[in-house]
Amino acid sequence: MRTSDAGHAGREIIAYLKAADSMAADQRMHLYGGGAVAELEEKLRRHYHKKYALCVSNATMGLLAVGLAAGLKGDDFITTPYTYGATVAGWLHLGNSPVFADIEADTLALDCESVKKAISKNTRAVLAVDIHGTPHDMKGLRKIADEYGLLYVSDSAQSFGGSRDGLPAGSVADVFVVSFTAGKPLFAGEGAAILTDDPALYEKLIWFTQHPLRQRRDIGLRLDNEFALNARLHPLAAVWANAVFEGSLERLKARQKRCFDIIKALNEIGLTENVDFASRGIVPTFFSLTAAWKSGKAQGDLLTRRLREYGFRMNVDHSPVRLLYRQPAFMGQYGSALGENTRRCRQAERQSRCRFCLIEEE
Ligand SMILES: *Cc1c(COP(=O)(O)O)cnc(C)c1O
Repeated sequence: MRTSDAGHAGREIIAYLKAADSMAADQRMHLYGGGAVAELEEKLRRHYHKKYALCVSNATMGLLAVGLAAGLKGDDFITTPYTYGATVAGWLHLGNSPVFADIEADTLALDCESVKKAISKNTRAVLAVDIHGTPHDMKGLRKIADEYGLLYVSDSAQSFGGSRDGLPAGSVADVFVVSFTAGKPLFAGEGAAILTDDPALYEKLIWFTQHPLRQRRDIGLRLDNEFALNARLHPLAAVWANAVFEGSLERLKARQKRCFDIIKALNEIGLTENVDFASRGIVPTFFSLTAAWKSGKAQGDLLTRRLREYGFRMNVDHSPVRLLYRQPAFMGQYGSALGENTRRCRQAERQSRCRFCLIEEE
């Protein structure tokens, strides 16, 4: 966070504390989704051009809520093994079975052909991920979801501010989730939001995760649900997110420009597999800047030296992604729940061997 952003957020937070200290009404505002929560949801609706935005406590809960609202229970869903476990944690808790499909070599996101092959009569949904903040193939997955009648969900936790073909990352899915936790393009301590155009899904999300005050305000229920899981965003996180919203997008633009310059240098140096996001209309957030060794041959010292000649002081680090089905914690708890048609994913395996992260020296 820049100092000016931090100062602005600090003043806004103090203003909230003062108001909430003296007024019970101000304390209750976020229960019905008013105040800073309403303001943040409005900013998000505008940014994504979506009808509904719902702030939640974090993206893991947000994805769980989507599974609850969509009635996913004991169903198969297709997803990528090349992600962080929180992508699937909620749906696994609901007793659903993941079917892993393979990924593309450059975006590291779901490969549409592989998704098609993984579809069976038990498939209800496809859960895509913008891993490293690189938007997945939204047009391709939209087409498949429509053709096979699948719910199309995107874990866009890392991709706020990214786009593909001019569309915000995740926004072509039926519903998608963004995160505001550490390292994400918009950082507000903790927090997340769910976005959709689907009124029925939105009502169920409110019913299952929000306070009766908000249930009544948003869906006008005479019968309210005290048995909802509390997935509300902390009001201070909303105040914070509002204060840094525009600044974060601006700062992200600078990072995107710099990462595209680094990619240009990498392509010229030629030790890594060529990357061409620009001509395909892909604008990642570069949550992580990654590259893959050409023919799997790691040459970290040479690459660091060559990048210096281009004026970039970078360190080579391991990729943080561990394939889900290679993790003992996954196999121990959920290995027996693997869905029909799941398979080993050749490209994902290959990428987990030859991918690395590039981290800028301070
Ligand atoms: C950060 C992250 C999540 C979880 O977000 P939280 O808000 O911390 O729950 C889920 N999926 C991916 C891909 C993430 O990077």
